[in-house]
Amino acid sequence: MFNLDDFKGKKVSILGGGKSGQAVAQLLASYGCEVLISDEGMIQLAVPSARITVENGGHTEQVFLADFIVKSPGIFPKSAVLFKARELRVPVFSELEVALSFLPKNVRVLAVTGTNGKTTTTALLGEILKQKLARENSAHKVWVCGNIGNPVSACVPQVQEGDELVIEVSSYQLEDSTYFHPQVAGLLNVTPDHLDHHGGMKNYIAAKARLFRDQTSQDAAVLNGADAICAQLTDQIPGKLWVFSAQPKHWLKTDVFYDGDELIFSQGYQIRPPRLKGIHNVENAMAAALMAFADGANEQDVQRAFDTFEAIEHRIETVTEYKGVTYINDSKATNLDSTITALKSFDKRQNIWLILGGRDKGSSYEQLLPYLKDYCKCVLSIGECMDKIERELHGDFPLVRCTTLDNAIGFAAGHAVRGDVVLLSPACASFDQFKSFEERGKKFKELVHTLK
Ligand code: ADP
Repeated sequence: MFNLDDFKGKKVSILGGGKSGQAVAQLLASYGCEVLISDEGMIQLAVPSARITVENGGHTEQVFLADFIVKSPGIFPKSAVLFKARELRVPVFSELEVALSFLPKNVRVLAVTGTNGKTTTTALLGEILKQKLARENSAHKVWVCGNIGNPVSACVPQVQEGDELVIEVSSYQLEDSTYFHPQVAGLLNVTPDHLDHHGGMKNYIAAKARLFRDQTSQDAAVLNGADAICAQLTDQIPGKLWVFSAQPKHWLKTDVFYDGDELIFSQGYQIRPPRLKGIHNVENAMAAALMAFADGANEQDVQRAFDTFEAIEHRIETVTEYKGVTYINDSKATNLDSTITALKSFDKRQNIWLILGGRDKGSSYEQLLPYLKDYCKCVLSIGECMDKIERELHGDFPLVRCTTLDNAIGFAAGHAVRGDVVLLSPACASFDQFKSFEERGKKFKELVHTLK
């Protein structure tokens, strides 16, 4: 467990100088630590500091001269640098754990994780809790942070006693946390993703289960009752368990169901879900509401937040309609499961031109075939894994090799007819052609707008 007092003014090496690496560097520098940020690429400090030095282009022996090491979420667990740090017995902590040790007392922490839906659920939960505080005329604040794009380390210096923290947590952040204790924890689903990073499904599940490991009987956990892996974790939950499911088939007794129109809660509340596409967003709304109830929110807080909630950028986001064709940006779909989820949020009208591809994540595109047949007209393949996509769909579905997003949009615009949908939901990482899924989504929107 990371104890802040042990490390005041000490030497620290931070592996990875991205957003969260730099934020934790600033935090520790402000605590008197002498900081080295070590990055395999070329980074520049966003805010220069006399206490922070940067080592670019790889990790040198300097890294191990520290009293402790902080690992950015993206650092590979089996990397040589971590192996050596452990061999030399230099303690390694996650950015999340270090950041949380800076929190003042009486700050409630609510954490959301899962393979898919984290950002949407975290954002929904944040909005509900803001409604709760507004209703209570409270001077306290809700801070929405973590994987959602606002590092916890950047957030904690502003947090005051009595505030609440809603954190989107990834499995990467959980795996190296020796201690993590959210008062309310939500696990949305567990399906294969990032298996290369974690070294298999067992480790991935173990990383997600860490969400509950340090909870107590006073805490609350929210689980998806229709997810077989979530259902297996119930015996690891020490506190009050709340279960949601929007599916007809589930493994656990649920506290909420969806009647096709409203969410019906066991407390008797009936709440209209937010205007977001797809049953997966009903699940996200259920999870956010149950977590908020566990934190003292009421029916009105939830309804007000849901009524004003808009789709989040890059998640089944309608960009525009042009010549009767609707263009939708789901660049955030970086795995097969989210692409399937996106397809399932449409009617089975075989009218979708699906832009698929990018950097492969190791799963088989063959799994897409039944959905392609129900929902799509044509696959437009792009990126590094075009050959694999072609091989795995083995000519069973119309496919056009487009290589780039630009070509794919051009082709779709030239061939789509009124009533069709052009959907970027690539089931792949973006790093072969873009810096991030955000950059890919923005490029898609920009190209779509130039059609006009
Ligand atoms: P995350 O932060 O976990 O990546 P997001 O809320 O950003 O999740 O949603 C990303 C994509 O994941 C969405 O565009 C959708 O395709 C899919 N998705 C969202 N919620 C769920 C869910 N509850 N179950 C399955 N897939 C989902």
